[in-house]
Amino acid sequence: MDKKIIVAIDGFSSSGKSTMAKALARHTGYIYVDSGAMYRAVTLYGMRKGVVSKENGVDAEALCALLPEIDITFVKDAAGNQRTIMNGEDVEHEIRDLEVSELVSPVAEIHGVRQYLVEMQQGYGKERGIVMDGRDIGTTVFPDAEMKVFVEASAEIRAHRRLKEMLEEGNHATYEEVLHNIMERDRIDSTRKESPLRKAEDAITFYNNEVPIEEQMMVLIKIFNERVKG
Ligand code: C5P
Repeated sequence: MDKKIIVAIDGFSSSGKSTMAKALARHTGYIYVDSGAMYRAVTLYGMRKGVVSKENGVDAEALCALLPEIDITFVKDAAGNQRTIMNGEDVEHEIRDLEVSELVSPVAEIHGVRQYLVEMQQGYGKERGIVMDGRDIGTTVFPDAEMKVFVEASAEIRAHRRLKEMLEEGNHATYEEVLHNIMERDRIDSTRKESPLRKAEDAITFYNNEVPIEEQMMVLIKIFNERVKG
C-alpha cells in the first residue's frame, strides 16, 4: 500500500506554486493548504482592528495579543475552489487585495505570528496526506516532508501572472504596482531573520517560466508516485 506523505511547495510570490499545489492535491485526493492565505488573513484582521496600516506600520505587540481571536479555516465552493474563512466570514477576495499584499510581508516577519501559524499548519499535517504551499514549508513547517519542491520564475512573468489573477478576481492594480509589490515582498521574505524564504537542501527546483500546467503535472506526479512508494 502506498504511504501518505507530505508535499511541501515553496517559492517566490506568484511563481505558480499554488496552481501546482492545488492541481496535485486534486489529483491525489490530498488536503491542500495555502499557508500564504493564513498570513494574509492575519494581516486583514490586524488592518480591521487598526493595528496594521500603511501609515503606522505594524504594531507587533498589539497584533500578537489579537491572534487567539483569529480562527482560520478553508472550505470548497460549488466549483471546487478553496476559499479562506476567517471567523466564519469568507475573506478569499479581500485577502488578495493590493493593500493586504503590501502589508503582509512585514506581518509575516513577526515571531509571534509565525509561531502561531506554523503550529496551526503543523496541526493540519498531523495525519500527512497534505499538499501545502508557502515560503518555509520544506524548511521550517515540515522539514521531514517526503516531497519538497522549490518554484522559481522571473519577476516579470510573476507580475504578469499576478496582475491577470487580480483583474480576474476584480481587484484593480497596474502592472508597475504589482511588479513593485512582488519585488518588495521577495526582498523582505528572503532577508527576514526568522524562516527566510530559501530552498531546502533536499528540494527539487522547478523553473516555472511558462511551462503549461499539464507538463508541470506530469513531472510532479512522477515524483509523487516515487515518493509514496518510499
Ligand atoms: O503565498 P502568498 O504570496 O499569498 O503569501 C503572502 C505573504 O505571506 C508572503 O509574501 C510572505 O510574506 C508570507 N508567507 C510567509 N510564509 C509562508 C507563506 C507566506 O511568510 N509560509
